[in-house]
Amino acid sequence: MKKPTPDDPGLHVSAPPIYRSHNDGARWSTQTDTTPTGSYACRCGQTGEATGRRQVADMVKQYEDHKASHAKDRHR
Ligand SMILES: [Zn+2]
Repeated sequence: MKKPTPDDPGLHVSAPPIYRSHNDGARWSTQTDTTPTGSYACRCGQTGEATGRRQVADMVKQYEDHKASHAKDRHR
């Protein structure tokens, strides 16, 4: 899968099947050998990458916050 770029902005997360069910605690702990990775790119040029469950989750939140900050700018 290709990564997002500022020319083709978006969020990409490559995650093992453990991500299918957040509530299934057993799956989270049994698949420690598969590490999710993620990356994002924004139209403004900001990009980010992360490796690891926690890091990817933080990155997704960071991207959401970043998009939200653009939305705020637009209404200013
Ligand atoms: Zn941006």
